[in-house]
Amino acid sequence: METTIALAGNPNSGKSTLFNALTGARQHVGNYPGVTVEKKEGRYLRNGLQFKIVDLPGTYSLTAYSPEEVVARDFLVNEKPQLVIDIVDAANLERNLYLAIQFMELGIPVCIALNMIDVAEKRGVKIDAAKLCALLGAPVVPTVARSGKGKDELMDSAAALVKAGKASQPLAISYGSDVDRTLDELTPKIAAAGFLSGSYPARWVALKYLENDEQIRCLGRRADPKLAAELEAAVDRLSTHLQETADTYPEMVIADHRYGFIKSVLKQGVVTYQQDLSRLFLSDKIDKVLTQRFLGPVIMAAVVWGLYHFTFSLSETPVAWVEGFFEWLGGQADARLADGLLKSLLKSGIIDGVGGVIGFTPLIMFMFFGISLLEDSGYLARVAYMLDRVFRIFGLHGSSVMAFIVSGGIAGGCAVPGVMAARTLKSPRERLATLLTAPFMNCGAKLPVFALLVAAFFSSHEALMMVLITAVAWIGALLAAKLLRITVIKGASTPFVMELPPYRLPTFKGLLIHTWERTWQYIKKAGTVILSISILLWALMTFPRLPEATLAQFEEQRAAEMAAASEAVAQEVESAEEDKERSADARALKERLLAIDGQKAEAGLRHSIAGRMGTALESITHLAGFDWRTNIALVGGFAAKEVVVSTLGTAYSLGEVDPEESGPLSEKLAQTPGWGVLTALSLIVFTIFYAPCFVAVVCISREAGSWKWGVFSMVFNTLIAFLLAVLVFQTGSALGF
Ligand code: GDP
Ligand code: MG
Repeated sequence: METTIALAGNPNSGKSTLFNALTGARQHVGNYPGVTVEKKEGRYLRNGLQFKIVDLPGTYSLTAYSPEEVVARDFLVNEKPQLVIDIVDAANLERNLYLAIQFMELGIPVCIALNMIDVAEKRGVKIDAAKLCALLGAPVVPTVARSGKGKDELMDSAAALVKAGKASQPLAISYGSDVDRTLDELTPKIAAAGFLSGSYPARWVALKYLENDEQIRCLGRRADPKLAAELEAAVDRLSTHLQETADTYPEMVIADHRYGFIKSVLKQGVVTYQQDLSRLFLSDKIDKVLTQRFLGPVIMAAVVWGLYHFTFSLSETPVAWVEGFFEWLGGQADARLADGLLKSLLKSGIIDGVGGVIGFTPLIMFMFFGISLLEDSGYLARVAYMLDRVFRIFGLHGSSVMAFIVSGGIAGGCAVPGVMAARTLKSPRERLATLLTAPFMNCGAKLPVFALLVAAFFSSHEALMMVLITAVAWIGALLAAKLLRITVIKGASTPFVMELPPYRLPTFKGLLIHTWERTWQYIKKAGTVILSISILLWALMTFPRLPEATLAQFEEQRAAEMAAASEAVAQEVESAEEDKERSADARALKERLLAIDGQKAEAGLRHSIAGRMGTALESITHLAGFDWRTNIALVGGFAAKEVVVSTLGTAYSLGEVDPEESGPLSEKLAQTPGWGVLTALSLIVFTIFYAPCFVAVVCISREAGSWKWGVFSMVFNTLIAFLLAVLVFQTGSALGF
């Protein structure tokens, strides 16, 4: 029979690189049955050795917390590979061995590839592979997957281990007296009943019960409901005991002892630091200041404020250029095309709609540049580290911080990768809470909405307003998370180790590439998705058109004004005085005509499908200060948040009164009656919190494993958003703003 070897390891440990080095072109890629996790298989052939190698998904642990972990574990248990090669990042040995320990607990023969040994050496870390091998009782072979160094030695060790054919004894670590006592009590019962024993060692099953492993619990309930209930009761007793005596819980105790075991192994001379660690030391020194308990948050706030200030002040001129360009384009369309549907589509639907979004490109670009700088230098990881303490209070997790930041926690992210980033969360409850609250962050699509309103109503305090908007989003997200964690998704938190990478001086080229990648995404979206939605919304705002009779009425009014005026013009001019009067009359006429045109445009918009929808919603939304036009924009925003700006652009240009006075949208809004600081605030609050865009909802559903959560997030978020907006508007009105 052919020997199957599983390749496992933490993400980024070099698994794919080693897999490719071992299997060359002899690979096959598919999916694991039933899930979208990729399954790669290949063959290794050399000197009569022949192995089938399966590349398992990258995981940090073997608890059934994420789909990757379930897939990896199921493969080991169901397919029973003869051996696991665990690729360990030598530069992060302690964290990486956490997974190795779990293979050993499961009793699968493990061969450790000590990869990235070159990186470790460069950092002045020397690892004694022979000693590690002796202490762990598993072969340890140093490798550099990138150059293929050590790969054949690794496979020789693997072959020797397979040939020896010894069944491995599962590693039994001590998890402290309380946990050990429960394990010792449960293991014999499990063994005696043959409970799940076809697949798993008895002590391991007991351990998984203590770790709250849903998958094993489900299997258990199906296999032997009576014993399963007994086990669960024993776990509950232990949990209560640990809670009362040490304010902790079994999962935490087990993780602590695994790390303790690893530490004690490494301490016995496995790792030595050789040369100067100046870079690491420098990082430590910087961290003493930047993550200091009181100074750290102050610096963080200053950095964020600085980022916004830099972005707004630098982008002012280029934003004006781009806006100017689109105004010119609109003017050209106005002058060159005959009145009609085509002109309306081009001007109101496309130029004003997409132009409104594209206009913010320079601002977005500067913002992305700042974010890339924070990210590439390693500062963003410090932000996550500092906020970890706060996040725990709200039932979230250190890793949630990253998901929040990716979603736009500082500014200009996107909830879609943010929701994906939540995959690194191990506990399903914290992951769900993160999935549902990450979309509250201010993604790149909400930025133009804020930028527009801030420019129109708070132009003297732009950076400060953005800091406030950011703070509101975070506080709202944390409170919502807490609310969810004490109601719909109750349960304890999981232990977590946070690593701080050393600081790096970002390269200018790297920054430019990152900035451009993100900016290009933004432009591309404006040119495709936003363009299509703008056109669709334009159609909804244009059809059905006013009936002929109504149009004729407006024409009559116009004609009557003109006739009255031309009578006056026909009289002879007798003095300079009269001439002046005449031109004043002409101006008045023009104004009256424009007023009629304005009424006509507004009547048309109101008559359209979108207008009717907006008007119908007004009966509720007036509580938050939103008129029917704003409603149209907000409904459009369910598809994508940029659409709020583009639709406001279209709505206000459809109802445009005087083409000569058409300025940027922010000026238009500032001059429109009914719009004021309070309306703007209410709209900002609503935009922060209301339903995630369509793509994000799809993603949430997929990641949470059910459409119900996608729908929940739309309803829950919109409800919160509306209540807050009403609160802002009503309080503000009562206080007399
Ligand atoms: P995976 O997530 O475990 O599949 O990791 P990858 O195989 O994609 O490797 C992550 C990164 O580490 C890639 O940029 C590799 O080129 C790099 N890498 C992998 N192995 C080594 C190694 O031994 N030394 C060095 N310096 N880099 C490596
Ligand atoms: Mg990979």
